[in-house]
Amino acid sequence: METKGKQTGISLRPPIVAVLGHVDHGKTSLLDSIRKTKVTAKEAGGITQSIGASSVSTKDGKRITFIDTPGHATFSQMRSRGAKLADIVILVVAADDGPKPQTLEALEHIQKAAVPMIVAFTKVDLQTASIESAQGELEKKGIYFEGRGGDVPWIAVSSKTGSGIEELLELISLMAEVQGISGDENAELESVIIETSRDKRGQLASVVVRNGTLSVADEIITDGVRAKIKGIFDDTLKPIKNITPGGAGQLLGFTEVPTVGAPVIKFDPKADYSKSIKVRQSVAKVKEGELPIYLKTKTAGSLEALLSTMPQKVVVVGSGVGDVNESDVLFAKSAGANIYCFEAKIPSNVSKLADTESVVIESYSIIYELLQKLELILKQDEKIINGKAEILAVFPYENKKVAGSKIMSGIIKKTDNLVLMRGEKELGKVRITSMKKMKNDISEAKPGEELGIVFEPQLAFEPHDVLLSIG
Ligand code: GDP
Repeated sequence: METKGKQTGISLRPPIVAVLGHVDHGKTSLLDSIRKTKVTAKEAGGITQSIGASSVSTKDGKRITFIDTPGHATFSQMRSRGAKLADIVILVVAADDGPKPQTLEALEHIQKAAVPMIVAFTKVDLQTASIESAQGELEKKGIYFEGRGGDVPWIAVSSKTGSGIEELLELISLMAEVQGISGDENAELESVIIETSRDKRGQLASVVVRNGTLSVADEIITDGVRAKIKGIFDDTLKPIKNITPGGAGQLLGFTEVPTVGAPVIKFDPKADYSKSIKVRQSVAKVKEGELPIYLKTKTAGSLEALLSTMPQKVVVVGSGVGDVNESDVLFAKSAGANIYCFEAKIPSNVSKLADTESVVIESYSIIYELLQKLELILKQDEKIINGKAEILAVFPYENKKVAGSKIMSGIIKKTDNLVLMRGEKELGKVRITSMKKMKNDISEAKPGEELGIVFEPQLAFEPHDVLLSIG
């Protein structure tokens, strides 16, 4: 029930809620379970696609807007841009695992942003679950719970059985009322881009509206990108006319990709927006010791999150949202970069092209695993590499295999310690037992020279693998 204020247009509005927590603690399952059970009786076919936010109702018909996507990095980035996003944060802690590094990281974000929080202990259906011990561990970090001498509200949920989900929604709704989370349809627009995507309708951007109203035909500006709203879709992709405070929707009408986390304001032809014009990234140059990469993600939210957490020496030469395509591969090749995907699909024709162009494409579904991998490569790169040879062909010789190779850079000596690499993967360390050029034994080879190498141990190598001399 949304109570109207008497003199003003201010009324309680649906709270905007974000879910944070450690990887695998059940954030996605919790959101799925909430959506499955609570999204207001959808038309047949159900929810096919997320717009980055979902609107759900409590038993009493009170609405709550959940942000589906932001991870910690996006959340903190939005905060650092001054864009206030969530009114309430659900901190997910798996009851069988207790707080973990990303739980503590999330807590830090929540405390810095001064957003009220509810702790949801997930996976309580598991025999190994112990809310008691998870709470005890969090208490050691200064989080004191209601019923245990503190004031942090908490709830036990299971996305598997659905237990606690209804109560969680009630708790959120109650907290929103206690906090007096309100808005005014006629107030100045306060809205943030939470997600961007593209489909056959064109360039799309999802927003949450914290205050004011966004309507079809409005002219808006976000980070220097202007748009006239041609259409608005709700979380069931149904066209709607406007988004009121506390609501979310997907906007059609952009000609450029807007930035996730950027505030949206109404365009005023008299105002000077020159300072907010987006500075497009110029083509990155890669210096010695830096690692060029090409990034492709399924959603703009995760791209933003990754871009803001890249290790220092990683240079993102190009990036994009959506399936990996042939031009990504060709661009990455020209920039000497491999492609790192986060949840982005790789069609088979693209992976074939990548093979023939020797561009490695790696897929990840966990952000920190991708980041860890990049850190690892940077560490390996710190090894001094004296020479590099690419294996062009494999020939049998007596009962050994000869690597028909070409020196790509530096010098390779017969006495060197070598590492056999496939893409970024180290297959093992080897020593040369024979090095021949046109049947003659040689003791070293220089760039451009082609030679046959036999090494021990005889690892399972293949064309395109690389031998690095590390001294
Ligand atoms: P996220 O990384 O935090 O989004 O975690 P996910 O939602 O992907 O869940 C990680 C794993 O925990 C998946 O295998 C889920 O099926 C499982 N899981 C999540 N919630 C529950 C729960 O309530 N009960 C049980 N038994 N498993 C759960």
